Amino acid sequence: VLEIRGLHKSYGELEVIKGVDITAHRGNVVSLIGSSGSGKSTLLRCCNLLEDSQQGEILFKGEPISWTGKGLARRPSTPKQILRIRTNLSMVFQQFNLWAHMTILQNVMEAPVTVLGRDRAEADADARRYLDKVGIGDKCDVFPAQLSGGQQQRAAIARALCMEPEALLFDEPTSALDPELEQEVVKVIKDLAAEGRTMLLVTHDMKLAADVSDYVVFLHQGLIEEQGTPDEVFGNTQSERLSGFLSATR
Ligand code: ATP
Ligand code: MG
Repeated sequence: VLEIRGLHKSYGELEVIKGVDITAHRGNVVSLIGSSGSGKSTLLRCCNLLEDSQQGEILFKGEPISWTGKGLARRPSTPKQILRIRTNLSMVFQQFNLWAHMTILQNVMEAPVTVLGRDRAEADADARRYLDKVGIGDKCDVFPAQLSGGQQQRAAIARALCMEPEALLFDEPTSALDPELEQEVVKVIKDLAAEGRTMLLVTHDMKLAADVSDYVVFLHQGLIEEQGTPDEVFGNTQSERLSGFLSATR
């Protein structure tokens, strides 16, 4: 579903992604691991078209959504096309970014109504269903500030699911949470993986990566240093950098 080919990305003089290829097949979970600054978030932001890249391309369902031509970054030209891609490739951030002035239900149904033009009653029913699914069906009418961090993140996941995306991008969805709250979100992510959702997951939680991934990619300074199945990457580590990284995260 999602293919990244030969991607390069710089911020000014600083080259952050130095030629990366990653493929996430339909129904697969690909985890991105690596130390701080290795370029994990940048890679996800490129997939979501929050950033332009300088070289390489990204294909989503076979369609180029980011490419370069004549040395310039290219992407679909209309805001409508970009919105359609973001809707289908929904991103969940480390900081959940819920709208503070709206109830949880309003947060979840806002985009389906305003972006997809769904009927309000239908969107309302869907939102309740997804909130139930992530275990906070009883929190529809409260405001984000009245929820714990784990509940807020689950609401953010319900909001992404409500758009019925083809694939989900997660950027450290549990790293802003206390360990006990982290587990609630881990459970939701595991359920989504078991359902066969396509996901690109940036995480610092090696146990989660080992549990849910079909494929794990270890990034080091903008390059793939090692990749493979969780068994290969965690059980039969080749690179010294990855060994070092794994022993530091334990
Ligand atoms: P972390 O684990 O800390 O989240 P990361 O792997 O997600 O790290 P990125 O956020 O992708 O790393 O950052 C990679 C590099 O790009 C870092 O050196 C960072 O300083 C730089 N960088 C990120 N965003 C920008 C930006 N908007 N402008 C300039 N430099 C940036
Ligand atoms: Mg990051």
